[in-house]
Amino acid sequence: MRRKTRQMHVGNVGIGSDYPIAVQSMTTTYTRDVAATVAQIKRLEDVGCELVRVAVPEVTDAQALSAIKQQIRTPLIADIHYDPKLALLAIEQGVDKIRINPGNLKGQREAFTEIVKACQAKGIAMRIGVNSGSIDALDQRGAEMRKVQVRLLEDGTLERIDPAEERRRERDELVERMVAKALEYCQWADDLGYQNYDVSLKSSNVLTAVQAYRLFAGRSDVPLHLGITEAGTHVTGAVKSAVGFALLLADGIGDTIRVSLTAEPEEEIPVAYEILRSLELRSRGVTFVSCPSCGRVEIDVLRVANEVEKRLAKVQTPIQVAVMGCVVNGPGESRDADVGLAGGRGKGVIFRKGEVVRTVPESEFLDAVLKEVASLLPEAEAKIVYPGASELGPVSAGRTRKEGYKAKPLPMANAAPEPAGE
Ligand code: SF4
Repeated sequence: MRRKTRQMHVGNVGIGSDYPIAVQSMTTTYTRDVAATVAQIKRLEDVGCELVRVAVPEVTDAQALSAIKQQIRTPLIADIHYDPKLALLAIEQGVDKIRINPGNLKGQREAFTEIVKACQAKGIAMRIGVNSGSIDALDQRGAEMRKVQVRLLEDGTLERIDPAEERRRERDELVERMVAKALEYCQWADDLGYQNYDVSLKSSNVLTAVQAYRLFAGRSDVPLHLGITEAGTHVTGAVKSAVGFALLLADGIGDTIRVSLTAEPEEEIPVAYEILRSLELRSRGVTFVSCPSCGRVEIDVLRVANEVEKRLAKVQTPIQVAVMGCVVNGPGESRDADVGLAGGRGKGVIFRKGEVVRTVPESEFLDAVLKEVASLLPEAEAKIVYPGASELGPVSAGRTRKEGYKAKPLPMANAAPEPAGE
């Protein structure tokens, strides 16, 4: 059950408990470089980004917003720190939402009031972003919480000191301050008769963020944007986001999410959808099932699975696809999927909607799986997934238990083609 919230709109995207949990990301280009920023946003749109945020550190960046907005479909959010004039300029440029942290805004409540009035006049949304670092800066206090310490003693043994109780108290106190500030800012907005806003309470510490969101959710019906800030590179960031979001989403908390990765932003979107699909909160795109492979494997399952997943990255239609390495679990999982491949001795059985379609040699795996997937998709998506057999090379090096790898690993097949227009 989703937590019941107020509803808000960012452009044509509804946010709140009446709407699906929206997936967003942030560009890494210099916003003033309109061509590069638009190109990156289009790549984000291709993989399902529903809201996009751009950094606006200077006037030149704010002045580029109108040109960017005119060339994209996704609602545009301007990310502003410190200077309220940049927020006002971004609003004039026609963005759909402003993201500010009132705590680091020059002029504080007076500046906040001016920005809210400008948002009201244009009918646009706002995110009130509070994070643990800025709360500490605001209160001129240290952000460090006590950590586990390990010391090497003279006798060569290690001494471990875990101030768990102090850390818990410090976290409780920090979270209380974060939530109190967020509620104060919400009151400022409500006092102006403005409710088209959501709130984020970020921390790079997963447990701090989770605790802050939970506390806020118990005290307010304002929609929440979930994020674990500075989460890390691909594996670290995806795992930290998944752990934090899952704890909250499973409790019904969270109305829009951003998985923050030190990677190309378009890599954040599949992670976000995977989290939401795993919790059955969204069904968009491919639910991919593949076996990890083991000493029983009879096909080059790693390579085939990775290539199939890459080729299906732009699919929006909910569909389940399985790539399995042998007869132990292969037929069962493949039968349960919309399209499945169950490998065995250099061959594969192709399933479609639970029925065996045909058996193909390993060199035709990619062609066969993509062809069956395409047959279940709307025409526009089918063309992207399966441009035709001649476009697809063999993807597998070939592998059986008896023969091992038959050849040197092949280079991956060409990258997935760009979609044909909208
Ligand atoms: S499906 Fe077969 S190859 Fe894959 S992990 Fe299971 S037993 Fe191993």
